[in-house]
Amino acid sequence: MLNSVKTLDKKKLHGKRILLRLDLDVPIHLEGYVTEDFRLQRCLPTVRYLKEAGAKVIIIGHIGSDGEESLKPVAQWFDKNLPQTGFVPSLELKEVLDTMYAGNVLMLENLRRLPGEKGNDEAFAKQLAKLGDIYVNDSFATSHRKHASIVGLPKFLPSYMGLNLEQEVEQLSKAFQPQHPFLFILGGAKFDTKGPLVEKFLQLADTVFISGALANSFYKARGDEVKKSLVDENLDLVKPFLGNPKIILPDDLVWKDEKILDAGSKAVEQLKKLISEARFILWNGPLGNFEDGFTQATDEAAKAVAASGAFSVIGGGDTIASIEKLNLLDKFGFVSTGGGAMLDFLANNGKLPGLEALENCKK
Ligand code: ADP
Ligand code: MG
Repeated sequence: MLNSVKTLDKKKLHGKRILLRLDLDVPIHLEGYVTEDFRLQRCLPTVRYLKEAGAKVIIIGHIGSDGEESLKPVAQWFDKNLPQTGFVPSLELKEVLDTMYAGNVLMLENLRRLPGEKGNDEAFAKQLAKLGDIYVNDSFATSHRKHASIVGLPKFLPSYMGLNLEQEVEQLSKAFQPQHPFLFILGGAKFDTKGPLVEKFLQLADTVFISGALANSFYKARGDEVKKSLVDENLDLVKPFLGNPKIILPDDLVWKDEKILDAGSKAVEQLKKLISEARFILWNGPLGNFEDGFTQATDEAAKAVAASGAFSVIGGGDTIASIEKLNLLDKFGFVSTGGGAMLDFLANNGKLPGLEALENCKK
């Protein structure tokens, strides 16, 4: 299906206004600077490509979930890494459009400041589309979302894949026929988004190791005491999976202040054994509350996956943030910029709303 998605041709871009959707959702320090730039580094090749082709590049994207954060620190990061990237502190660009020159790069403020973005409002997409001649999606990590800048814009503009999106599709497609034993490691939070994928991956994987706050929901659903641990409200989502023999949950845990915050050392040993036996490993989600220092299980697992002979695919904003300091990212088979998007892509045989929208774009 992906053959019909067009890729960029440098020769045809000079002077064209490109609306470039990027993954800009990165952690920002309280003092206003980017603390972890893995995703941003992966944006640079496409921006450079367009700049060199003499396009006028208008970068659009989001940060945070509800539009309360600003993209200004991200624009400053770009300006440092790709000098003369400008920032427009609004979503109104009409005044500056006329002054844009070939090779000019400007970033607009957080799209989620306007409800039309997440609401996939057609009028909003149409308005945004007026700013560009061409739309380029290079935001793999958001391509599982039916948001205006992902699925709305291609209805109004000729649309292309960016270089990062192309690479994600190519690399992740290698995992459609995984070797066995296939170990799926799932951590983090948000069972409501990740739960439906557990069902899919129970069919594909030989073992599903679940840790992090996701595991807490299992403990609670089966009647264990979880005290003040983070758990999902809706335990009905977890119930169908209780007792599934493919699912392994840590059974010794690290507690603090009446909360389960990490997997314990026996569980880590068990996971390391599974890692050493696997031929294919897919991992999303930190295994503990890493921001507060509960990094033991995540660190140990990362080292074991990096050292294993298995083909490994890892992804997720927090997953990468949690292991980045170990300097192991180049030891994995592929590091995806997507978390939910990566899992959706793999569970649905390469189908994502953002990719389908590119295929059906305005010609
Ligand atoms: P990703 O961004 O990699 O897809 P998620 O967003 O699903 O990952 O989950 C990451 C979050 O899960 C982190 O904020 C982490 O602190 C949290 N988390 C993991 N384990 C626990 C736990 N036991 N208690 C509380 N939070 C946890
Ligand atoms: Mg996350």
